Amino acid sequence: MESTLTSPSPDATGATLTVDLGALRANYRQLQQLSAPARCAAAVKADAYGTGLEPVVQSLAAAGCDTFFVAQPWEGERVRKTLPEALIYVLNGFAEQASALYRDLALRPVLGTLEEISDWSAFCGQCGARLAAAVHVDTGINRLGLSPDEVDTLAAAEDLCNAFEWALVMSHLARADEPDAAMNRRQAELFQDLRARLPAAPASLANSGGVLNGADYHHDIVRPGIALYGGNPRPGMANPMRRVVFLESRILQVRDVPEGGSVGYGATWRARRPSRIAIVPVGYGDGWFRRLFDPDTEGRAGVFVEGSFAPLAGRVSMDMITVDVTDIASDKVHRGTKVELLGENITVDDVARWAGTISYEVLTALGTRYAREYCDQAPDPS
Ligand SMILES: *Cc1c(COP(=O)(O)O)cnc(C)c1O
Repeated sequence: MESTLTSPSPDATGATLTVDLGALRANYRQLQQLSAPARCAAAVKADAYGTGLEPVVQSLAAAGCDTFFVAQPWEGERVRKTLPEALIYVLNGFAEQASALYRDLALRPVLGTLEEISDWSAFCGQCGARLAAAVHVDTGINRLGLSPDEVDTLAAAEDLCNAFEWALVMSHLARADEPDAAMNRRQAELFQDLRARLPAAPASLANSGGVLNGADYHHDIVRPGIALYGGNPRPGMANPMRRVVFLESRILQVRDVPEGGSVGYGATWRARRPSRIAIVPVGYGDGWFRRLFDPDTEGRAGVFVEGSFAPLAGRVSMDMITVDVTDIASDKVHRGTKVELLGENITVDDVARWAGTISYEVLTALGTRYAREYCDQAPDPS
C-alpha cells in the first residue's frame, strides 16, 4: 500500500529514506509484551510520525494491532481506507463539519469538553444510533479533557451518558518521559479516581513512556507512538527500541577550502587548516533543521561517511549541508560517496539533541523530497 504522499524515485532525488517495517513490528511486539494483559494500540497521527501512514498501519495490523489513534478525521479516513476493520480514535475530538466522516467511516472521537459530548450525543440522536466514542479526562496536562468538576457534571447527566457508547475513558501523561517525576503517580491516581465516577468503560493512560514505566500505567489499552518508530521514549536512559528510520544520501561535490576560507551563508564557519568540504544534498527544505549548525557548539552535529563522523561546517542551506571530511582519507570521499544521516551510527535522538529538540519533531519534519522505501528486514516470528 502506497502512502498518499507521492514520493520521487531514488534516481530523481538527493536522498533515500528507508523505513524498516520489520523493526516497527518488532517494536510493536515488544510494547505489547511489556503491557500485557493490556492491549496495545498505536498512535499514528502526523503520517505515522513522518514514516508513512498507510504502510505503517498495514504492517502493524499484520502484527496484531487493531486500534489506532490519529489527530484528525482526515487521518482517520486514510486509516479506514487501508484497514476496513480497525478501531480508529480521533484525538482532536468531534469536528461537526466532518460529522459524515465519523458516521460513514465509524471514526470514534475522543471527546474532551461537555459541549463536545453534547454535540456528539445530539449527532447520535440524528443518526439513531449510540455511536462509540472515547471520553478524555484531564489529570494535569491541562490540554484536552474534562476537569474533575466537569467529570462530576457529566456523571450526573444521565441522558448525555446514555446517548453514546462508552468505548474508552482516557487521559494523557505530561511527564512520562521522566519516570521519576512524581507527577506521573499523581496523574495515575487522579485517573483512577475520575474513571470510577463515570460509566464503566475500558481505560487508557499510557503513551510510550507510560508503557515502559510499568503496570500502574497500563490499564486496558496502551497507545504508544514514538517507541514504535524507534525514538527513545525516555531520553537519557537506554533506548530499548529498534531503529526504524534510515536516511542516506550521496556526496554532490568535494572541494578544497584553504586555511581562512569560509563556508556557507553568513561565512560562519572558517577553515583553521586547509580543509576538504563535502556537499550533501539534504537541507532545511528536507527537515534537516537549520539550527543543527551552531557556531558555538561547532562539531557537534554531523553525518557519517565511510564509517567516520564528519561534522557540519557552515550553515544548513535549503537544499544542502556542508560537512568537513578533512580527516577522512581523500581516496574514500568523492562525488557519489554514500552518506549516513540516520542509521547505524546516528539516531533520531542524536539529531534531536543536536538541534535542541525531540525525536518527535525530527521524525515529523522529515521532508517530502526523499525517495521513500519500505523494507522488511527484522525477523518476523509470526
Ligand atoms: C501522541 C499521543 C500519544 C503517543 O505518544 P508517544 O509519546 O509518542 O508515545 C498517546 N496519547 C495521546 C493523547 C497523544 O496525543
